[in-house]
Amino acid sequence: MSRLTRPTGSVIPSGCTWLPSRAVAVHPDEREVELDTAERVGYLVLVLAPGLEPDLAAVPGLAEAMDAGWATTANLSSRAEDTWTAIRGMTRGRVVFTIPPEPAPCGGTALKPLFLACDHWQEEGALADIDVHLVTPYSSLLDLPFADSRLAPHVEGLGITVRHGATVAPLDHAGRTVTLRTGAGEQVLDDVERAFVVPHYQAPGWLAPVAGADTGGLVDVDPMTLAHRRLPHVWSLGDVADVQTRPSGGALRRQVDVLADNIRRHRLGESLRHYDGYTIIPITVDRRRLMLAEFDRTGAPQPTTSLIDLTVPRRSLWAFDRYLEPVVYFTALLKGRV
Ligand SMILES: Cc1cc2nc3c(=O)[nH]c(=O)nc-3n(C[C@H](O)[C@H](O)[C@H](O)COP(=O)(O)OP(=O)(O)OC[C@H]3O[C@@H](n4cnc5c(N)ncnc54)[C@H](O)[C@@H]3O)c2cc1C
Repeated sequence: MSRLTRPTGSVIPSGCTWLPSRAVAVHPDEREVELDTAERVGYLVLVLAPGLEPDLAAVPGLAEAMDAGWATTANLSSRAEDTWTAIRGMTRGRVVFTIPPEPAPCGGTALKPLFLACDHWQEEGALADIDVHLVTPYSSLLDLPFADSRLAPHVEGLGITVRHGATVAPLDHAGRTVTLRTGAGEQVLDDVERAFVVPHYQAPGWLAPVAGADTGGLVDVDPMTLAHRRLPHVWSLGDVADVQTRPSGGALRRQVDVLADNIRRHRLGESLRHYDGYTIIPITVDRRRLMLAEFDRTGAPQPTTSLIDLTVPRRSLWAFDRYLEPVVYFTALLKGRV
């Protein structure tokens, strides 16, 4: 993790003043944001992008199971390294992986640890002795037919049992059970050796005054222009904005461009640009190949290039994601250059 992270202060663009405090409330009528120091900061324009927060309490027993070392997840940076240790330590038994329900930050990437683990177990000759279950909230793997058609044969080939339309309800680490909630009721998986459970996510509660009645706590923006539907001078983007597409860093990258331009256009009284709903799920299918699912709000493919089919798992994509992406992230992406 230490190789992949940088102190926040080192990535603040020149011209920005970083207030190293947490926002705890928005007061739209006064056009102020309240900080955890009790200070209030006034604004002419407010852009909200605090992301989603893990909601461990949404799955009863998950926090206890994690503390006991029986459950873990690569989605929490504090547990990412444990996840690989846990995967390497397994030689037999039943194991459960999950894809989180929406909203979640790039939820489909939860397939990455599953496939990396299966690849490792296959290489170690242990996969045949490990009973792998995948719990997905979707009726197919990701409810993206163009990506599912590539992934389903791979999942079948690895012998993974897929539990469709399901989320994890209580976990009992002492009894070693994982309860699944499905449309048809509850199912219990017993004798679970390890549970790799991605927490559910939620929008921060302090955003309630800027959320919509039906947005599940997400900031109530026009999904096209990213302007708040009710409050002038308030904008939002990223995982916390109700842009009606699956959240991802790739989606955010497109939104930044539109939002920055739209704030300027709004000030000049010009017509606003539209964000087309583009989003992406990069999926490592093993420890050598990665595929990209790029799609729009309707789930229809929206490839960035027509030259090659990026839904085909490729070694070059894997190498880009593994070695170049972290460099591009800090040198170009955070600076708005790509
Ligand atoms: C395990 C995992 C793998 C992923 N893989 C990919 C991938 O391969 N490709 C991809 O495109 N996307 C991926 N994503 C999704 C991507 O990381 C997110 O979509 C993206 O980071 C969302 O950006 P954001 O700015 O909206 O929120 P965040 O990245 O969550 O950033 C929010 C920022 O706001 C700060 N903040 C939060 N609350 C407050 C507060 N109260 N006051 C002040 N500051 C606050 C936080 O500290 C943070 O710096 C992945 C996500 C996860 C969890």
